[in-house]
Amino acid sequence: MDLLSQLDLASLKVVKFPTPLLQQPSAKVEQFDDDLSALVERMFEVMYASSGVGLAAPQVGVPIRLFVYNPTGRGDDEGVCVNPQLVAGDGAAVEEESCLSLPGVRSKVRRYARVTVRARNRRGERMELSAEGLGARIFQHEIDHLDGVLLVDRMTPVGRLANRRALKDLREQYEDAG
Ligand code: ZN
Repeated sequence: MDLLSQLDLASLKVVKFPTPLLQQPSAKVEQFDDDLSALVERMFEVMYASSGVGLAAPQVGVPIRLFVYNPTGRGDDEGVCVNPQLVAGDGAAVEEESCLSLPGVRSKVRRYARVTVRARNRRGERMELSAEGLGARIFQHEIDHLDGVLLVDRMTPVGRLANRRALKDLREQYEDAG
């Protein structure tokens, strides 16, 4: 993938709201090669350095359908989903969420309690994963990122009001940086 071979991995960092790329759908991954694996490794580094439990490629400025996750921080709980699709969801759970691209923002979000996701791993092999609790929440939050949907789009009016200051600060920081 041309886009990936030209990336400067060392310079990748988490991009913040309201960067437009975060609110656009990402492209399907077609090539499963060393460049993709190198991006995955770098994304794990960035996620762990930020104490995150999930990180989608558009959050480091790369608009492709890929996310990494680790609900516990233990080595054997980490995973990679490429071209993920939510194929089943049931139950409902309302829990507080945050997002590395929206520092300072926290809001309760209603999600499926249990989900099944079909995806490919970094080598392009098909897999089907079922998750509940935090794992299910991470899958839904990260797939949202690949569709350009953010926590701000999932908030209730009350959540929006409670986070008004944090969102205003992020908009001002973005304008000052640009
Ligand atoms: Zn997020």
